[in-house]
Amino acid sequence: MAAANLSLRERYHQVCDRIERAAICAGRKPGEITLVAVTKLFPAAAIREAHNLGLRDFGENYVQEFQRKQPEAAGLAGARFHLIGHLQSNKASIAAELFHVIETVDSAKLARRLDAASRRLEVMLEVKLSAEDSKSGADPESLPELIESVRACPNLQLTGLMTIPPWSDDPEQTRPYFIRLRKLAEQFQLSGLSMGMSGDFETAIEEGATLVRIGTALFGERRPRQDPP
Ligand SMILES: *Cc1c(COP(=O)(O)O)cnc(C)c1O
Repeated sequence: MAAANLSLRERYHQVCDRIERAAICAGRKPGEITLVAVTKLFPAAAIREAHNLGLRDFGENYVQEFQRKQPEAAGLAGARFHLIGHLQSNKASIAAELFHVIETVDSAKLARRLDAASRRLEVMLEVKLSAEDSKSGADPESLPELIESVRACPNLQLTGLMTIPPWSDDPEQTRPYFIRLRKLAEQFQLSGLSMGMSGDFETAIEEGATLVRIGTALFGERRPRQDPP
């Protein structure tokens, strides 16, 4: 257990150093960038360990998975949980109870369902910037209407845009998506930009990311349904 702690601590410090360097190189303040620790498929103990090291923002992909882990992750001072996976409207009310930030709003219907839960929620709009069919997210053309719908929801505070570019091991391949998202956010005067994962967060920071969602670089490879050694 101590060794696992040490390695998470080391990885956390490495990631913080990299975020800081990327920010400074880009002429930005490191404090403008929030590290969201992606804990999907890791047990609640990983959230507790990371919180203990000073992490406060956590990203989860699946409502039901986090529902199971939440009791064990409850009561962590200052912790904020972000939903970063696709959300179906029929799970909106439970998601509104479990999460502080929903990063994946992509329809007016979903926004209205979240609003109906009557809890203050921060939301971001997931934007689909590639033609890949499997990806969720709103089309850029639909943003003006969607933004208007979300702003009409009294319980929702719209803070920015989020995107998941097509996977590539070359960050230069994802850079154009980050630039595109930043331009859209500027166009609609939104300040939050959730973009960048373990393989490309420095590039995302260069292009203006305010939230980076990092799993593997902090916790190692995800090994679903495998017992720890
Ligand atoms: C899993 C996931 C991440 C983290 O990915 P890593 O490459 O492990 O850092 C970030 N964002 C989303 C939407 C994810 O599903």
